[in-house]
Formats: sequence, structure tokens, C-alpha cells
Amino acid sequence: MDKTALDRLAALPRIPIAYLPTPIARLPNLSRYLGGPELFVKRDDQTGLATGGNKTRKLEFLIAGALEAGADSVITAGAAQSNHARQTAAAARMAGLEPHLVLHKPDAAPAPPISGNLLLDNLLGAVIHWTTETAPYEETIRRVASVLAAEGKKPFVIPYGGSNAVGLMGYVQAMVELAAQPESGDRFDAHLFATSSGGTQAGMLLGAHLAGLLDSTRLLGISVDLPAPAIGERVAALIREGARLLSLDPGEAERRIDIDDSYIGEGYAIVNQADREAVRLMARQEGILLDPVYTGRAFAGLVDLIDRGVFTKGQRVLFWHTGGAASLFAFGAELMTS
Ligand SMILES: *Cc1c(COP(=O)(O)O)cnc(C)c1O
Repeated sequence: MDKTALDRLAALPRIPIAYLPTPIARLPNLSRYLGGPELFVKRDDQTGLATGGNKTRKLEFLIAGALEAGADSVITAGAAQSNHARQTAAAARMAGLEPHLVLHKPDAAPAPPISGNLLLDNLLGAVIHWTTETAPYEETIRRVASVLAAEGKKPFVIPYGGSNAVGLMGYVQAMVELAAQPESGDRFDAHLFATSSGGTQAGMLLGAHLAGLLDSTRLLGISVDLPAPAIGERVAALIREGARLLSLDPGEAERRIDIDDSYIGEGYAIVNQADREAVRLMARQEGILLDPVYTGRAFAGLVDLIDRGVFTKGQRVLFWHTGGAASLFAFGAELMTS
């Protein structure tokens, strides 16, 4: 491993929020049922922060940045059922900061029912700023930031998905963590995960490069919303920014961006039959709860790729459970139809 980059990573401001390392577990029933590769799961849904998830790793670095900046409040944005917003609210509370969430709802519709992540946001006492703007969240965040500043507050902005150079360090760290876990001793042929705002993927690619895993494994992101080129561009930019922060030569990381956008269906959070079946399959084979928006869709992709012989017997595949089960309670109707 590149010692200088590792030292840089270790020197970055970071506060302990997540329970780490997250476990790696075998999925014996599913492996048998699907008849393909040996399947494993990395339990990043068990990071422990207000029901956990992948944003917790990013927030260890992002919230530390907010504290360094002397902030008294944080603002971030997302969908009404954003896992990122909920974890940001909880992390902010741990750090004594006031959480502000800019949440999107469809034009003119009343605010959505208080359930799932939105219930947790409310319990955490987050101040919710509804927006119907389809303009980039960044603009709305900036507007809320200037309102708070005018009230004499010192808000710190955390970008959509927590995906910037600082946030993605959580996933550089996650790959370094994984490389040292005994369960990954004989390596995985592939890692599969849901990708959206790109920070997780960018961090994993940089981290795999740093840990010397990049040549021996495939890191496949299943898009849950955007076409592959759109996410790929974001991931590439994030890799470059992250590499700069670590003074690391990104090597092949950018060329190894690998995104499958075949499972988007009708779009973000529009639950389809494959999503539903994937959530049920994981629950019924392994007793593990996925979510319909991210991990269920990514797992539906994995099931299909095994069906199509892309991943086969004799291989070892690691599925990253990035969290999201808190949203299950807001998707009951969508999950239980047919
Ligand atoms: C945000 C999120 C992702 C995607 O991570 P990005 O870094 O935004 O690409 C995956 N799974 C869950 C459950 C999430 O909340």
C-alpha cells in the first residue's frame, strides 16, 4: 500500500460514528438457491447510526469537517425517504449540530406521510425544508444556508449523498478495512453494490487501488437511477478530487469504473417487480432486510447477472449491503402488491 496516501488518510479529520469494521457474512442459502457463485455480504447496513447505512462512513469525515469549520448546524438534501438525510441528521445530533434537511417532494403534492426515514428525521428533530424544485439541490441548499447565516447561524453544507472528496474517504477507508478482514483472505472475484451519487463507488475504486485490490477484482456498481455515463462522469470527477486530497496517483481507478444501468426500470424509487422479488428473496433465504430503492435493486441485478452466467460457480462475489431498510415502512404498498 502507498504509505504516504495511507498516512494522509489517517491524518484527515474524522470522528468515530460508525461501528467498524462491519462484518462480512456468508450467504449459504442464497448461494445454494441461485446455484452460481459463492455469495457474501458486507454489512454496511450495520454501521449503527440510527439504523445504519453507507452514509455513516462518509459522515465520519464530513461531520469532522463541519466541527473543524466551527459550524453550529449542517444542511444537506435528498428525497423524502433519503437515507443520507436521516444519517446526516443523526450524525449532526451526535456532534451537537443542528440538522437541516432540504427534502424533495413532487410539485404541489402535500408533504408525504411521516413514516420510514421521514419519521426518523422528525424524531431526530431535523428542521425540514421542503422543495419542489427540480433544480440541482445545491441551489436550494445554498438558499437555506444564506437564510440561516442571516439568522446568525454557522451552517455547514454537506452535498447531496455526502458525495465529495471528503465524504468518499469513508469508502477509501472501507476498502482498506476490507483488505484486512480475514474473511476476504482469498479475495473476491467481484464486488457488487448500488450506485447513485457516486461517492461510494469512487471511494471503493480509490480504496481498492490503495489496497492493491484493483487488478484482482471487479467492482460493479448497479445504477439505481441515472444512465451509466452520467454516474460514470461523476465518479470519475470524484476519483480525481479524492486522489488529490490523498496526494495519490489514481492509477487505473478511473478506467475501472464499471456501471450497469439495466435495472433502473421507470426510475428512482419507482418499485418494480424485480425490486420486489429481490427484497423478498433476500428476506426469505437469509433473513436479511434490503430496501426497495437501492439494495433491492442492486441485488435484483446480481440475481439477473447470475442467471445470465456473468457470475458463475467457483467464483466468490461480495454484495455490499449499503443500508436503507428504514425506508421499507414507507414502501409497504409497493412491496406487497402481487
Ligand atoms: C445513498 C445510498 C446508496 C448509493 O451511494 P452513493 O454514494 O450515493 O452512490 C446505496 N445504498 C443506499 C441504501 C443508500 O442510501
